[in-house]
Amino acid sequence: MSLSEIATRVAAAAARAGRDAAEIELIAVSKVQPDARVQKVLESGHRSFGENKVQEAAGKWPGFRAQFDGITLHLIGPLQTNKTRQAMQLADVIHTLDRPKLANTMARIAQEEGACPDLFVQVNTGEEDQKAGVLPAEADAFIADCQALDLPVKGLMCIPPVDEEPSLHFALLAKIAARNGLSGLSMGMSADFESAIALGATHIRVGSAIFGARDYG
Ligand SMILES: *Cc1c(COP(=O)(O)O)cnc(C)c1O
Repeated sequence: MSLSEIATRVAAAAARAGRDAAEIELIAVSKVQPDARVQKVLESGHRSFGENKVQEAAGKWPGFRAQFDGITLHLIGPLQTNKTRQAMQLADVIHTLDRPKLANTMARIAQEEGACPDLFVQVNTGEEDQKAGVLPAEADAFIADCQALDLPVKGLMCIPPVDEEPSLHFALLAKIAARNGLSGLSMGMSADFESAIALGATHIRVGSAIFGARDYG
């Protein structure tokens, strides 16, 4: 599907929800995609991209930034503490703030560097053992701790369990954000971004629908 077809679907979903499509950022998730495909999307004028690995982002994006102005790079994958500084230098937005140790490390580095990307707290809405994110019951306290560290928390992010109705998770995330006074909601991927928009998503993370299937071979 072309980027403009996705944009049309975003606009239609926003209209159905009585929302302004301009308040929804379409993040083109370019992980694992060949540079030529990413380059095409850049040439079409799109500027918001997502990567899930620091190493891959570091290899790809400094070069694209030198070629194209105005890129916003989002890191949407789990972040190892020892890659925090590199991640903070590379990304404009990090969606995976998910534990106290990472918050403390980010706060220290933000002090040292005098800058910090915008942050989203990842919530493990499905309470899955294998998934990153704070548990819903711990979210309020963790958000407050991050704010006490002066971290620029803009919103919340979730990845619903694959075998459950995503809307329930989107609604839960929206509820936790609202009671914490956060306006950003990073939720919705290729298969479910329209229902995420209906439930208030401000950032949708769409990969395969834009770029085609990822070839991990
Ligand atoms: C890969 C990825 C996406 C995009 O998934 P698609 O199904 O290809 O749209 C979104 N969010 C995260 C966190 C991802 O890792």
